[in-house]
Amino acid sequence: MTPTETRAALERLALQPSKAMGQNFLVDRNIAYLIVDAAGLHSEDTVLEIGPGLGALTELLLEHVARVVAVEKDGRLCEFLRERFGQCQQLQLIHADALEFDFVPVAPFKVVANLPYAVATPLLQRLVDSPARPRRMVLTVQREVADRLVAKPRTKDYGALTLFTQLYYEVRREHIISPRCFIPPPAIDSAVVSLRLAPHPLLEPAFEAPFKEYVRAGFGQRRKMLRGVLPKSPTRVAVTVDQVEAALKRIGVLPTARGEELSLAQWLLLTRELVAPAPAEPKQP
Ligand code: SAM
Repeated sequence: MTPTETRAALERLALQPSKAMGQNFLVDRNIAYLIVDAAGLHSEDTVLEIGPGLGALTELLLEHVARVVAVEKDGRLCEFLRERFGQCQQLQLIHADALEFDFVPVAPFKVVANLPYAVATPLLQRLVDSPARPRRMVLTVQREVADRLVAKPRTKDYGALTLFTQLYYEVRREHIISPRCFIPPPAIDSAVVSLRLAPHPLLEPAFEAPFKEYVRAGFGQRRKMLRGVLPKSPTRVAVTVDQVEAALKRIGVLPTARGEELSLAQWLLLTRELVAPAPAEPKQP
């Protein structure tokens, strides 16, 4: 929708966009095309769209895929979308809070969404942790969140969100979007990120929970050394200072390392070493 059409629709609905609901509506058609293109859609796909709003992306998605399941929290926008798309058989519009919506029955699906900023991170984590983990996601989020998703070790943006997402997904930052592309304009830049499910799991299922507990502990006090924070963390797989130091040594990391210094690969090795250390070499007689 053009800026004029968007303003007219909001006026007709007497809808004062809600900041709490992240209601910034996309009015740049080129950006809408870029987002949909980045998803590599096929005609047989099902796409889950979170927060369809006035339908800026929905309209394009319906041109590309077999089914769009659109979950919108605001009832007034649902009414508008029902009117706009009529009895379109491809569109399943659901009036619900995506933070509580059960994605599993929709699977398999891809996700394309301009996420409401206030809940972008919990929504992303819900999708990443879902048993129906989508194989592809293209999401518009705050630029700051995008930076955290693609962050490298030893940077301020690198943290638990980076690792929890990269455990399952290859993440790319595709585009920066100026506030001018939305009505009303948000206060900050946005970014489009694409997430592609890794072809093979990086970690055996039994190690996932301890990995997350160690990472949370390691970044809970990010300026502290791992040998200081991991033994104190309330992990199911308790460890001692000696065990942390020995495990760090075995993976070739200094015993004074902090969580932010370890790459994802090193965090995976450390988890395996702490949970199921390799048996010690037999001593030579
Ligand atoms: N997709 C539209 C676009 O690109 O113009 C609107 C995007 S706007 C950034 C976010 C949308 O998410 C709004 O329509 C808002 O009402 C909706 N929303 C906010 N919180 C939500 C939630 N918890 N569950 C589902 N939709 C939500």
